[in-house]
Amino acid sequence: MLEPKGIVTIDGPSGAGKSTISRGLAAKLHFTYLDTGAMYRAVGLALERQGIDLADTDSLAKCLAAIELTLTPNGDDDVRVLLNGEDVSQAIRTPEMGLVASRVSANPLVREKLTALQRQLGAKGAIVAEGRDMGTVVFPKAFRKFFLNASAEERARRRQKQLAEKGQTVDYQEILDQISKRDYDDSRRALAPLKPAADAIIVDSSSMGPETVIACMLASIAKSAR
Ligand code: C5P
Repeated sequence: MLEPKGIVTIDGPSGAGKSTISRGLAAKLHFTYLDTGAMYRAVGLALERQGIDLADTDSLAKCLAAIELTLTPNGDDDVRVLLNGEDVSQAIRTPEMGLVASRVSANPLVREKLTALQRQLGAKGAIVAEGRDMGTVVFPKAFRKFFLNASAEERARRRQKQLAEKGQTVDYQEILDQISKRDYDDSRRALAPLKPAADAIIVDSSSMGPETVIACMLASIAKSAR
């Protein structure tokens, strides 16, 4: 099997099922699940709350330096996120915060801070790292890289269901528009754009449930670890 220090990366667009699959795969491998989207969301929340203008690099740098993030696994639920000690796990998981995260994530100072933190968290290995640039930028030497995709319509449908389970009612078209905008922005930005690493395995989850996707990934990991 995979050596204990191994790193597995799962990149892909919003709503492709990355969180459920990364969490499930991490549990099967007895690895830690690293949700880097949650980190961008938490930083987005901090910058928004303080009304930081991204063009004001001095204020931005000061604000970023004062941000302390703690991520702790939370069973089958989303990772628990503490922003300077405050639990923001709920506050960061709204469609609006997804757009805010996408906007701030194009900023070089923000990426610099979070890339360093992610590498620090991954230094001991044994992680499944989920995001947009895990295989391309943050962990280019990862043992196994996956790029998880699904049609935009299927992703919007899943996201709507996920939000409904949390008691949030959001219009399907609105979600589809937000997902499409985020994909567009994430793929076209200059820094760490959303794209599969050259050595990533591309998995389309449109017509596969999470259990099947996880089983395929485990089989692929076992095969290449032999
Ligand atoms: O994965 P999630 O939807 O929580 O990510 C929110 C936003 O954070 C993404 O749309 C993307 O702009 C940004 N992000 C990123 N790099 C990562 C993870 C997330 O730019 N590694």
